[in-house]
Amino acid sequence: MAITSQSSFQDNFAVPNLSDPRLASKRAYRMVIDGKSVDSVSGKVVERESPGHRGKVIGVWPAGTTEDASRAIGAARIAFDNGPWGRMSGAERSTILHAIAQGILKHQDELALIECLETGKPINQARGEIGYCADLWTYAAGQCRGLEGDTHNAIGTNRLGLVLREPAGVVGIITPWNFPFIIVSERVPWALGAGCTVVVKPSEFTSGTTIRLAEIALEAGLPAGVFNVITGYGPEVGQILAEDPRVDMVAFTGSVRVGTQLAGIAAANVKRVGLELGGKGPQIVFADADLEAAADGIAYGVYHNAGQCCISGSRLIVQNSIRPALLERLLDLSRRLPFGDPLAATTRYGAMVSVPHLHKVAGYVAAGLEDGAELLLGGEKIDEGSGNFFAPTVFDKVRPDMRIAQEEIFGPVLATIGFDTPEEAVALANGTPFGLSAGVWSRDLETAIQTTRKLRAGRCWINSVIDGTPEMPIGGYKMSGVGRELGRYGFDEYSQFKGLHMTLGRGEPWFEH
Ligand code: NAD
Repeated sequence: MAITSQSSFQDNFAVPNLSDPRLASKRAYRMVIDGKSVDSVSGKVVERESPGHRGKVIGVWPAGTTEDASRAIGAARIAFDNGPWGRMSGAERSTILHAIAQGILKHQDELALIECLETGKPINQARGEIGYCADLWTYAAGQCRGLEGDTHNAIGTNRLGLVLREPAGVVGIITPWNFPFIIVSERVPWALGAGCTVVVKPSEFTSGTTIRLAEIALEAGLPAGVFNVITGYGPEVGQILAEDPRVDMVAFTGSVRVGTQLAGIAAANVKRVGLELGGKGPQIVFADADLEAAADGIAYGVYHNAGQCCISGSRLIVQNSIRPALLERLLDLSRRLPFGDPLAATTRYGAMVSVPHLHKVAGYVAAGLEDGAELLLGGEKIDEGSGNFFAPTVFDKVRPDMRIAQEEIFGPVLATIGFDTPEEAVALANGTPFGLSAGVWSRDLETAIQTTRKLRAGRCWINSVIDGTPEMPIGGYKMSGVGRELGRYGFDEYSQFKGLHMTLGRGEPWFEH
């Protein structure tokens, strides 16, 4: 199969329109601490350029310091220890969370535009994501009325045990840049629903929508100090969330490197840790799969969000008998993919988050070639003058030990590996340090379910990809993380369980006089 050169991608590439009026204004944000909008004591700021529109600065927020973060932690601690939030009934909390969901919908277009310009993702995708987030808040709002403990009524005639569910306390939440609004909305509503207070540290690349969310929450009636946002760089304002004993739990989403570092720091003060880290998602395609649907799903799985997706299906593990037919369909779809300007309504995938990240992805393509894989498509940057774009890229003849088969690339790069037997497919799928997500494509449900049972991944799909709903848990096996978010599992994550032992009448004497 021949490599498609840059020129053929240019036909589908929407060149960014740098005169688009939506790029005209630079939005200025302030942190949210104890219910107030504040600047950093440093007086410094972070400026964000749109990754899809070179040279256009579209947002500016404070470069916070450890002192700012400490103030936010203090506010969250006081709000938890003395404020009304943790003591409110589930019904009262639910009313406020519902109002926040409504506020998100009211500001959907504004939030989508900010998300699109800060991340480089397509505007229509961003709009859909904001709508999904309103649903996450709505789900948590409903469920937080039903949070319950347990009773133990069979531990003796004069004994009764109650398990009281209590909030975990002050939670530090650190988020990455690829899905800023989704990831904060997969954590904060559950933490708040359980009665916790939070200090959120969004990525220094994409802080705008998280700040707006905290402002919307205040407008919706959330008490001051319950939802604080600090902005800036990880070592200055993030690390303290793991170090400070006033924080009871830290929930981190991001790279394995930073996650393990924070877990080590948190261990020193025996702090609870939730980690959602990287992935190297396999997509197993059996010979009996619907090839049209599988090709479409494989394309979505690897190109969605320009491949900057922790649950991306970046490894195609395909039965050898259908490998040429599937790859042919996939290459055809990949060549026709409308990409480019994130502000264009037709764009399906936009820009990469930063120039260094673009170079990292290009470095992996070079590593794939060096290790002997066959490049079937793409592998190159596109129109670098206007933004950080990378062509849809497909490798074939990848060996499982190659770097492109083992390491998270976080870009639109697919590594194809063939298999003959189901056992081989499972071994290949499980053969990385990660275990975040995995997909199986087959018309035979028995094959699909039995295969899925053997996969060591927290989120599995049969005949779909990147699917999720507020009801279902997410989280990682192996190096992909610890803990579960969403559904009823997410509330457990942000709860403490206290055992209350009651004696009815006089108990057994310990020492009879
Ligand atoms: P990152 O680890 O570089 O940064 C994540 C966050 O941590 C950012 O807010 C950053 O400022 C902060 N940070 C950096 N250094 C820190 C430090 N020393 N102390 C405290 N905080 C610090 O990750 P990223 O590049 O923003 O995101 C990409 C990674 O995130 C990928 O590996 C991806 O797989 C992962 N991710 C995982 C999930 C999931 O749900 N499992 C979701 C999205 C992204």
